[in-house]
Amino acid sequence: MKCFDLGGKVALVTGGNGGIGLGMSRGLARAGARIMIAGRNAQKNAAAVADLSAIGVDCDSVVADLSRESDARSLAPRTLERFGRLDILVNNAGVPMRKLPQDHTTEDWRLVIDTNLSSAFWTCQSAYSEFRRLGAGKVINVGSHASILGAPFTTAYAASKGGLLQMTKSLACAWGRDNIQVNAILPGYIDTDMAKSARQEVPGTEERVLSRTPAGRWGTLDDCEGIAVFLASPASDFVTGTALLLDGGYAALG
Ligand code: NDP
Repeated sequence: MKCFDLGGKVALVTGGNGGIGLGMSRGLARAGARIMIAGRNAQKNAAAVADLSAIGVDCDSVVADLSRESDARSLAPRTLERFGRLDILVNNAGVPMRKLPQDHTTEDWRLVIDTNLSSAFWTCQSAYSEFRRLGAGKVINVGSHASILGAPFTTAYAASKGGLLQMTKSLACAWGRDNIQVNAILPGYIDTDMAKSARQEVPGTEERVLSRTPAGRWGTLDDCEGIAVFLASPASDFVTGTALLLDGGYAALG
């Protein structure tokens, strides 16, 4: 379908080497986009490039630590060098921090805020001139249930993800007339490495997710494909400044 076609487009996906980022990258690749992924782990990057290349599109990776401003700001220029353009920016890289507020150190706080929130600001700023050159751009910020719901052990994480949601709205307002759409995806419980650690660190997670989620299951990487294609494609050209829950109905249950 033409309105979901990403042929000729280039997407940069932070944290695209696994989990939700890889799921979204697969969707974008299947819709025809070329993909640049960024992550800290070179082996995971190489495995993801092989996975995505098997779909039949040109893909590459950059080793980068998104908690560092210089690394984050280098990604858009490196994507331009490699592919000649940048149409879609997916800010997905993120780390959890499951501690009560009184136990967070300043280092914990800074790591989570820089990795999950500041990095997205840095990549957006550095992609803006290319979006202006193209006369169009798509930004997808990956928030969380923690963008809108409270929990006792997620203070820094919730602050980062709540900030990401508000930043999404602000960027959408600022860049609407530049034909740049900025939206967020708020995942619920998706079965990734991060979810595995949640199961280990938070007793009762497995039972709560299965009993409370109206869909009756965890989300999968396959569930991440279509929503990314929608927000990256012409199908969403009049959708900006909003957030789509990807949670099997979890947040809808009162
Ligand atoms: P994973 O732990 O499976 O993947 C995290 C990704 O982020 C990896 O690709 C990792 O690559 C990358 N990453 C982490 N820190 C950095 C860093 N400093 N620099 C560069 N890359 C980094 O997690 P998920 O796929 O589950 O999570 C993806 C996003 O979705 C996160 O933002 C998370 O907060 C959010 N989310 C996830 C939920 C879930 O249920 N899974 C629920 C709600 C939100 P590498 O290790 O190579 O650096």
